[in-house]
Amino acid sequence: MKTLLIVFGLVGIHCLIFAQTDIIKQLPIIDMHMHAYPLDYNGEPDIANPVTGKPSGAQSDEELMQASFMEMRRYNIVKAVISGPLEVLFRWKSAEPNIIIGGVYFDEVTSLPDVEQLRQQFMTGRLGVLGELVAQHAGLSPNDSLFDPYLTLAEELDIPVGVHTGLGHEGLTYTCCPKFRVSYGNPVLLEEVLVKHPKLRIYLMHGGWPYLEETIAIMSVYPQVYADLAVINWIIPREEFHEYLHGLIRAGFGKRLMFGSDQMVWPEAIGMAIEGIESATFLSKEQKRDIFYNNAVRFLRLKEIGE
Ligand SMILES: [Zn+2]
Repeated sequence: MKTLLIVFGLVGIHCLIFAQTDIIKQLPIIDMHMHAYPLDYNGEPDIANPVTGKPSGAQSDEELMQASFMEMRRYNIVKAVISGPLEVLFRWKSAEPNIIIGGVYFDEVTSLPDVEQLRQQFMTGRLGVLGELVAQHAGLSPNDSLFDPYLTLAEELDIPVGVHTGLGHEGLTYTCCPKFRVSYGNPVLLEEVLVKHPKLRIYLMHGGWPYLEETIAIMSVYPQVYADLAVINWIIPREEFHEYLHGLIRAGFGKRLMFGSDQMVWPEAIGMAIEGIESATFLSKEQKRDIFYNNAVRFLRLKEIGE
């Protein structure tokens, strides 16, 4: 009970912040970037949210899942691309089958499943996105040959692909991820993938930050490339996020940017991420709706989902 009170307490704080901008609250949102992680995926349970300094307070995988669902309901998230270790993801997916689009996860800890097994999962709809592919943390370029059979499959079945780009947390090369390299986060590395697989529907996760020029370069030449704004909309300094987002908008990509939270083990991150977009005064209401919903509907080829 104490745990739940802490979770509810955090949620309450964000709800108060959000109440000042309640237009979006009633409208549907699509989250293109969430995770179903076990509580201790980052090595130990109860890791503090790097922005608030507080852990989620969830004491079990089940509590973390339920707290995440509660935040999704609060902000009217009607669809979410969620990836993580498959056994955890499938638990989440069976609890909310109509909202969750299952994503195939890859990073320095979780390897990719067998290609033929994956084909079955895509064809039955149990999984619907190839990603998040976090090649960077595993010391791989996103154009590494390891991914090619998977990208070929995604292209054949018309499955969207989400590729981690840009950033890693401070000091990670010396802790979790000795193979991580900043340079592997450069979105330009996807060019050979785009040339070889011209029909792929790819989105740059984290919007390529901090590679603004390279992100613009790729998106301007390859119109099929979209980007999500996950994690940078709440974890980096707000002014820097808004400058970056403004740069992408100025470059003409307002119809290809999509909301994502990158909720990992902190359910309150969903509200923080929404607030990061909502507080961008240079965005019109229409541009915000595009980011929160319309662009993802087009990218995922969904029918409109009820308000
Ligand atoms: Zn990522």
